[in-house]
Amino acid sequence: MQVAIIGAGLGGLTFGAFAAKEGHQVHIFDKNLAPGGVAALLDHEGYRFEQGPLLIGDMLPGESLYELLKELGIELETQRADRDIVMPDYDMVKPVEFGGKYWRREKLKKLFPEDAEGIDEYYRVYDHVMHLRWLSRQPQTLGIKIRTALAMLKLRKFASMNADEFTKHFFKSEKICTLFTGIFADFCADPKEVQGLGVIFMNFESAFDMRIPVEEGQHYYGGYVYFTGGCQKLPEALAAYIEEHGGSITYGTVVDKVLIENGTAKGILLSDGTQVAADMVVGCGAGKDFFENCVGLEHLSEEYRKILTSYRPMEAVFMVHLGVDYDPMEYLRSPLTYCYGMYDLSSATEKLRNHVYHGGDDGYLIYVPSHHAPDFAPEGKHCVTIYTVCPDTLSEGDWEDVKERYADRLVTLAEAHLPELRRHTVTRKIMTAADYRQYTHMKKSSFGGVVPIMGQKNPPHKTDVKGLYFVGQQSENGGGVGAVMLGAKTAWEKAKK
Ligand SMILES: Cc1cc2nc3c(=O)[nH]c(=O)nc-3n(C[C@H](O)[C@H](O)[C@H](O)COP(=O)(O)OP(=O)(O)OC[C@H]3O[C@@H](n4cnc5c(N)ncnc54)[C@H](O)[C@@H]3O)c2cc1C
Repeated sequence: MQVAIIGAGLGGLTFGAFAAKEGHQVHIFDKNLAPGGVAALLDHEGYRFEQGPLLIGDMLPGESLYELLKELGIELETQRADRDIVMPDYDMVKPVEFGGKYWRREKLKKLFPEDAEGIDEYYRVYDHVMHLRWLSRQPQTLGIKIRTALAMLKLRKFASMNADEFTKHFFKSEKICTLFTGIFADFCADPKEVQGLGVIFMNFESAFDMRIPVEEGQHYYGGYVYFTGGCQKLPEALAAYIEEHGGSITYGTVVDKVLIENGTAKGILLSDGTQVAADMVVGCGAGKDFFENCVGLEHLSEEYRKILTSYRPMEAVFMVHLGVDYDPMEYLRSPLTYCYGMYDLSSATEKLRNHVYHGGDDGYLIYVPSHHAPDFAPEGKHCVTIYTVCPDTLSEGDWEDVKERYADRLVTLAEAHLPELRRHTVTRKIMTAADYRQYTHMKKSSFGGVVPIMGQKNPPHKTDVKGLYFVGQQSENGGGVGAVMLGAKTAWEKAKK
């Protein structure tokens, strides 16, 4: 079978790798010049910076993404990773000496004694979920299935809660609620829109201290990783796999149309007028724009069209990449530090959706990719990225006109953690929403996929056109490396049937 894939993001590459593994002829086309979409690297004056994924989940031995790569025989070196959190008037920076797997619980109780009972109750529910994770990893005997069902019953009362209600169930202080829901700001989501139990899945304690064991007793804590040498190792390995299995990847090529005859996908049309015949066509990324421009809405059912007009893609990111002549890790405990500037996430999300940029005042994060990819910087130098989510377009002005001013502001804010950052800067590269549109090939840059809104339907993998599938972070699986890759593999399994 000839499989034509539009987009060499992690979704398209994963679909292509599994199709190639089973002997099909895979042809991928991407407008960018390297594989990976938002997971590709940026080269700048002797430094390299990451545009996308930071911490990768599901990548520990036995976890779903690790197993997916194992099926393809892809082995990549990883190292465990974690992140520190700084709130406006307290912090959750990990202690130099490991304080046990509940150090955050104990620290919170000291900081907020009036909430001690709720904090203990939250951690009991957390432990219960970690036990469920452990059960899900056991051989699925009848006994384990019954234990799982009983354990699930205990979580029933939380099922209909959103993240705001969920955290308020345990904590009186807004300051603790925001510690646990702050990560949703990264997804451009208001905690009132997000599934309550998602709070626990976004806050595995091991994500904040990699010294926490992966598994202990009947609890599975898991953990995050970095790819040693940078996340682009992942798309590079998938691209190499496809080529080794007889597939081809053509870069620097825009696909203009999916060729459709009598409701069946027959191939694609490239922007230079070349037609490529195919038995199966797969769109990766570009969401609504893909269906409007390449497919044609007239080929879709009313239901699919309704999803395309109702789902909410994320906004943009504003990034300042710096090459520096000192080691930032002398000042930071972790190569990834989230700094929040407020506690009111609902107002922050509303501002974002009204195209108002907070300029770093609502929060930003500091990332040091050269920590796990030393060759990103010349000998003795380092890379630092400071970034925030931001509106795709601004209510006033244009990103190009304001980017230098906002970049200066972010550097000033980050100097609270990295002294004299400006003086140690050797080179600087700013990335705005306009640059991200290059990576995603979307009118609205939508850096990380869809906002994970409870009950929202996202574009399904199977479209109404026979032989046309849709994968990637704008599809039903949503964004994130693990979700995109596992979703693309599932889509391939559906498609080949
Ligand atoms: C700043 C940032 C931080 C992130 N942090 C994390 C993290 O910590 N952990 C995590 O797991 N995930 C993270 N992610 C999300 C993760 O990187 C993405 O969900 C995933 O890489 C998306 O892959 P994709 O294949 O869906 O889409 P994309 O990467 O957008 O790839 C789509 C590709 O298709 C191409 N394309 C589309 N249409 C056409 C066309 N018509 N013709 C030619 N080419 C076309 C595009 O050019 C692009 O290369 C982050 C992302 C960003 C941007």
